Amino acid sequence: MYPNVQLFINGTWRDSKDGRSIRVLNPENNEAIGTVAHADIADLDEALAAAEAGFAAWRRVGAFDRYKIMRKAAQLLRERQPAIANLMTQEQGKPLAESLTEVASAADIIDWMAEEGRRAYGRIVPGRSPNVEQKVIREPVGPVAAFTPWNFPINQVVRKLSAALAAGCSIIIKAPEETPASPAELIRAFADAGVPAGVIGLVYGDPAQVSSYLIAHPVIKKVTFTGSTPVGKQLAALAGQHMKRATMELGGHAPAIVFADADIDNAVKVLVGTKFRNAGQVCVSPTRFLVQRGVYAQFVEKFVALAGQIKVGGGLSDGVTMGPLANDRRVTALTKLVGEAVAQGAKVELGGKAGEGLGNFFAPTVLSNLTPDMTIMNDEPFGPVALMVPFDTVEEAITESNRVPYGLASYAFTTSTRTAHALSYGIEAGMLSINHQGIGLPEIPFGGVKDSGYGSEGGTEAIEAYLNTKLVTQFN
Ligand code: NAD
Repeated sequence: MYPNVQLFINGTWRDSKDGRSIRVLNPENNEAIGTVAHADIADLDEALAAAEAGFAAWRRVGAFDRYKIMRKAAQLLRERQPAIANLMTQEQGKPLAESLTEVASAADIIDWMAEEGRRAYGRIVPGRSPNVEQKVIREPVGPVAAFTPWNFPINQVVRKLSAALAAGCSIIIKAPEETPASPAELIRAFADAGVPAGVIGLVYGDPAQVSSYLIAHPVIKKVTFTGSTPVGKQLAALAGQHMKRATMELGGHAPAIVFADADIDNAVKVLVGTKFRNAGQVCVSPTRFLVQRGVYAQFVEKFVALAGQIKVGGGLSDGVTMGPLANDRRVTALTKLVGEAVAQGAKVELGGKAGEGLGNFFAPTVLSNLTPDMTIMNDEPFGPVALMVPFDTVEEAITESNRVPYGLASYAFTTSTRTAHALSYGIEAGMLSINHQGIGLPEIPFGGVKDSGYGSEGGTEAIEAYLNTKLVTQFN
């Protein structure tokens, strides 16, 4: 069963005022499974008024009480994990095991942010005279507008929502219209845990209409967006025009650099798992596999063999390890990117094609014989495609890693501390994971540089994004 998803405004679940809704499709077969309410300006106005009042109330709730409510929400999420994961797989397509993990890790993120909220301290700076006291006070920035995409329907919301709540902010979330039910269940867990009316608003609608209205509105004091770089640039520009603080978590084209001295079997195992998780629709997915020439043939052969064992199918079916893509736009985009590359001389080592039938399936794909001018080597593939590129020296690998305007995740496999050191300081990226997949835990920073955006959605930095700094200096 899949619900007709409603808006959550001022503590009430309801349809949009004008009754408009959008169909939700199951990506496995593109059949309609439900609807989601489409908010209009009148709904947004109500959400804004509620967020303003909600902020005034929530900022006065003590950090310890906010922590207790948030921990309760995490607990409710854990209790409801199976049902919520089932909804997520129906609407997004990922295998059930991945949906279960996403719900469980959302609860862990809430716990971490709740704890951090209790530690959002200010400080006393010694005065130059004994009569002067200088206090640095941390205050919640105010009502937040958050825009989240369809690839991790809950995870993308929970990082923003729990950091904002922990800091004492209210928040209006424009969640993804294509995957609306699981994020709605996340909000329900918070509401049931006792978050007061108005503190959280949940809307769906026309993304451009909602973002242009909310970002420009004087009630909103902070903007946070996860999605593509072109949209991120538009929203960052709008936020700048209205002097709103912003966090932008945008696209990537992550290098995975494998050196000849690495444990190749471990590199293959980790990278196949990381590459094809969520069918590659992950901003930190490794995409450009830079492999040192001495082990190149061996690595590609082993990678193709392991990727060839991936079982593609409906996410609720037993044994399936990769589901359909979340929407048909991705199938169209990947068909074009791969087709163009092949026409320009790329070799298909595995897959390379969309599935037959009604669903948004695309085979796990490995390409070689690539050149830097090909579109696929420059535009984020955002799908199950691995691009194999040989290199000779550390410098060459760093130069190729940094060639593209993105700078989100990066991966490397080496047993040389000297090489690891060179990469740590040479790679232009917000995150570098060496010899394992270590990115994405709540307690460590998560964010990018260059065209991948700015700000962090993990670690202590995550709360910082929702706090203002105020200085009070007093002569006594
Ligand atoms: P898109 O660029 O149109 O949209 C990306 C996301 O931004 C969607 O969630 C969409 O609802 C939202 N969006 C679009 N226009 C908006 C606006 N004006 N205001 C507010 N939100 C807006 O493309 P798409 O087909 O949905 O996704 C494809 C591309 O998006 C991928 O190639 C990938 O680069 C990127 N993407 C990135 C992430 C991520 O985790 N960083 C997640 C999903 C999509």
